[in-house]
Order: sequence, then C-alpha cells, then structure tokens
Amino acid sequence: MADDHEHQTVPSDIALRVKALESVLVEKEMVDRAELDAVVDTYENRIGPRNGARVVARAWTDPVYKARLLANATEAIAELGYGGAQGEHMVVVENAPKVHNLVVCTLCSCYPWPTLGLPPVWYKSAGYRSRAVIDPRGVLREFGLEPPDDVEIRVWDSTAEIRYLVLPERPADTEHLTEAELAELVTRDSMIGVATVASPRTGDAA
Ligand code: FE
Repeated sequence: MADDHEHQTVPSDIALRVKALESVLVEKEMVDRAELDAVVDTYENRIGPRNGARVVARAWTDPVYKARLLANATEAIAELGYGGAQGEHMVVVENAPKVHNLVVCTLCSCYPWPTLGLPPVWYKSAGYRSRAVIDPRGVLREFGLEPPDDVEIRVWDSTAEIRYLVLPERPADTEHLTEAELAELVTRDSMIGVATVASPRTGDAA
C-alpha cells in the first residue's frame, strides 16, 4: 500500500509530526492503527464526491426530489443515506443558465464531508479562500471556466454552521442516460462550483 513517489520527497513538518504522534499513541495503546486506517479509508475512499454525485443525479431525474433538496437539503440528502459530521446543516444552491454558484470557506476549510469527502488542498489555500470572494471570475478562469458577462456569479461562504453543495446544470444530450450513468458524469469540482458538468457527447460544458 506504500506510495512510491511519497518517498522521493522529504515529508513536510506536519506530516512528520502526525506520524510521530500516531506512533506514540499506538505505542501507548491509546489508539489502534487498524482503526485509524479505517477512519482514513472511510473519508478517502468510501465517503467521497460519489455520494454528492448521486444526490445530483437524483435531483436531475426526479423533480419532486429536487424540490425537497432545494427546500431542505439536509433531510433530502439523508434520504439517500448521507449525513453526519460536517454535513448537519446542508444547503444546496442550483446553477441555472444565468446563475453560477461558487462555494468557499473564507475562514478555514469548512466543507460538506458526507457528500464530497475531504476538501482538496487548493480549497484550503489562502489564495482560493480570499480570491474566490474578491475575484470569483478570475478564480473560475483559472479553473478553465468563463461564464458569460450576463451570468450572475453567487459566492457562498461556508461556515461551521452551514455547508453548501452546488447543484450543477444537467448537460445536454443526457436524456438517454440512467441515474447511475448521470452520477458518473458529476465531478467534485462541479459541486464546489469551479467546474460545470460536461456533455458526454460533445465534452462541452453545459
Ligand atoms: Fe471553514
């Protein structure tokens, strides 16, 4: 399971400190290494953006579910079995032809873990946190997204209280796809709002 390329660079201070702390706790039998691995695996692999993608695909295919999702996201997301820590108070914001939503946490790195897993490194960076608010179009451009001038950009600042999830627009040429196939198209970045969901046929964004 060792990650080869990880050994080519010197671990960061924080990585070394975490490792040292983990070793001490294991040595003193205060934690079980297998349990630690299980927690990490849960957030890295089992709880990840695929959960959010299933929520989005359901909303795209079931208008009644979508209405519930927009009215009370926490409850509607829990219907699909996702909830708990860092997802207790969810709000879903819907993209539309003239509205594009972008999520940030200006204070730290608040993020909806049950639906998106752990936040990407850039989401936690000082640059993203400040510039997403000051210059959202500049940030989107760096992610390869250039909404036309008449599209309103709405920036949502996550907090310890409220976590946001973007409901991206359903791309064109997807009428024939099943809910599961639609979920495959939905990316993590499209649910943060730094991307749109590409059409499977053209590869063009919605
Ligand atoms: Fe935060």
